[in-house]
Amino acid sequence: MTGRSALARVALGLAAGLALAGGVRVLNAPAPAISETFYVFGTLLEVETRGVPEAQARDAMAVLGAHFRQMHRDWHAWAPGKLESLNAAIAAGQPFEVDPGLAQLLAQGRDLACRSDGLFDPAVGGMVEAWGFHADTPPEGDPPSDAVVAKLLAGHPKMTDLTIEGTTVRSSNPAVQLDLGAYAKGAALDLAEADLTAAGITDAVLNAGGGVQVLGDHGARPWRVAIRDPFDWGVVAAVSLRPGEALHTSGNYERYFDKGGIRFSHIIDPRTARPMRGVVSVSVLSDSGALSDAAATALCVAGEEDWPRIAAQMGVSAVLRITDDGSIFATPEMRARLEAVEGGFPAPITVVDLPRDVAIPRCPEG
Ligand code: AMP
Ligand code: MG
Repeated sequence: MTGRSALARVALGLAAGLALAGGVRVLNAPAPAISETFYVFGTLLEVETRGVPEAQARDAMAVLGAHFRQMHRDWHAWAPGKLESLNAAIAAGQPFEVDPGLAQLLAQGRDLACRSDGLFDPAVGGMVEAWGFHADTPPEGDPPSDAVVAKLLAGHPKMTDLTIEGTTVRSSNPAVQLDLGAYAKGAALDLAEADLTAAGITDAVLNAGGGVQVLGDHGARPWRVAIRDPFDWGVVAAVSLRPGEALHTSGNYERYFDKGGIRFSHIIDPRTARPMRGVVSVSVLSDSGALSDAAATALCVAGEEDWPRIAAQMGVSAVLRITDDGSIFATPEMRARLEAVEGGFPAPITVVDLPRDVAIPRCPEG
């Protein structure tokens, strides 16, 4: 990593006592609200509610807990469960029955993949695995050989290879291996938001390594979160979230390995079957967790030229992008939301307009 002091990273991280995982932390969480922490997809997911009696909050948390456990079982890319069975069926050229929730999630992933020109594509699980990221610990050993990478690329796995008819899923391409990691967290927070709303909870914050989503306005004061500076574990800026908003950050600093002076990130460029380069983090703010999450991943992969167009195609307009030389770019809508903390922004922010009137790519039927 070049740019702003990599050395200061560890020291400041400890000094600042960043208790919450991921790219954001809640700055003004009220004192004793009711909160619970869940473990889903390898991340701690913290839910904090306000404004309802404790019993009501705990009942809602019990429902959430059951749903998160089910998502963990059904959507996990490398633990035994539904997704693993679906991947085995795809590799064998067989159709597979999924439950309606997974069918819906896959259809959403397929649509988002088309809108991102395939830069976000949950069909690239084989590539993610080959780079060693289907494990709870960082990869050890050597990166895959050029021959392995060429083979992965030749398989050309993509979401449009999938046909989803009701709850029957089949793939015309056995190289497809589903890995929902780039949007599952956001989708989980969307479902949790729906659960909390159904339980009569109107004020809550959900925080899961790199993603935060809010219900309500924190009793007249908005929930205010910090976007973490990946270079020094300080803070890039704060954002006051409006009711229903979701902010997701993706980057090369959460899951990676360093080899020969190169940082290999867990975000794979489907065009090369290799980890994306050049971007340290991307944060996306929108009204949907799944969309913010998928777009943050896609915009890490998209190059400097293309990212504004991909953002417009995906329908997101508030984006913050930090490159590995420490430069910070923001769309006008994101720039308007950034609040300086700790004495200002860590670097000047270049405002980048999004193109207007882009054609929205649609998936073929299926
Ligand atoms: P995120 O932290 O949301 O950017 O998600 C990264 C995770 O998504 C990785 O750990 C992989 O499991 C998966 N993934 C990596 N590259 C891609 C990609 N280009 N499209 C979709 N999923 C990906
Ligand atoms: Mg993501």
